Amino acid sequence: MNILIVSAHPEPASLTNALRDIAVDQLLADGHDVRVSDLHVLGWKAVVDRQDFPGLDPAERLRVPATSGAAFAYGTLSEDVVAEQDKLMWADALILAFPLWWFSMPAILKGWIDRIYSYGFAYGVGEHSDRRWGDRYGEGRLAGKRAMLIVTAGGWASHYGARGINGPIDDLLFPINHGVLFYPGYDVLPPFIIYQADRMDDDGFRATSGQLRGRMRALFTDEPIPYRRQNAGDYTIPSMELREEAAAPALTGFAAHLRS
Ligand code: FAD
Repeated sequence: MNILIVSAHPEPASLTNALRDIAVDQLLADGHDVRVSDLHVLGWKAVVDRQDFPGLDPAERLRVPATSGAAFAYGTLSEDVVAEQDKLMWADALILAFPLWWFSMPAILKGWIDRIYSYGFAYGVGEHSDRRWGDRYGEGRLAGKRAMLIVTAGGWASHYGARGINGPIDDLLFPINHGVLFYPGYDVLPPFIIYQADRMDDDGFRATSGQLRGRMRALFTDEPIPYRRQNAGDYTIPSMELREEAAAPALTGFAAHLRS
């Protein structure tokens, strides 16, 4: 199988990158083809602006969804964006490896998503009408592929537990797992999270590497997070709210979007 790993750490010798390399090593040992987009090595431009759309008339207003949709349709997106989109289409699985920075991904990785998730590629896909609200949340261009996060975090596991002060980690990662990955169709695997990463020692690294190798060996067999698919009958259209028959009204928030 083909796997794309996208990493977003500015220090080549970082723990995050060392774990990324363990993942690569295990995947290659298992006979997979692996490509790595190290965003700092690529010198990735992290913001969407007019340079992304060389075909846009300077007199024309930049409206990012419409402009990116036209550029995608006419093949006039910038070369760096097309190269990453091609890698996504090549890959059967996508892994994002990053340090948790301010409870989210580093800006360079957010910018990778902002720029390569063009309208018509990752959103604005499929019929949009009173009967159907597009191919998304379990359907879309990247359906049939798998995705997974490898996240290093400074905080303790308990800080991210059900009653931890930072909020539950599954809630914090919901916008990435559900919003960025499930939205364009990926089956999203439970994340691999390294807590207290700043205090990692050699023994901890060895143990963590072993666990990560196990997750890599199971990349195509582990059960994905059971998010509800948009077009499987659980949501009303066009309000896109959960039907009472699908989930009791008292069930709200992120957890409501998991199949029970
Ligand atoms: P590194 O600094 O590269 O390494 C960490 C430790 O691992 C070092 O002691 C290193 O010696 C050791 N190590 C052991 N084996 C190896 C090996 N083989 N290779 C490399 N290193 C090894 N944390 C949170 O929990 N929530 C937040 O919201 C949050 N926000 C942050 C925002 C910013 C801007 C920053 C800078 C940090 C934030 N942190 C947060 C902390 C952050 O998540 C951690 O600092 C980070 O995940 C640690 O991973 P690293 O790859 O940078 O580690």
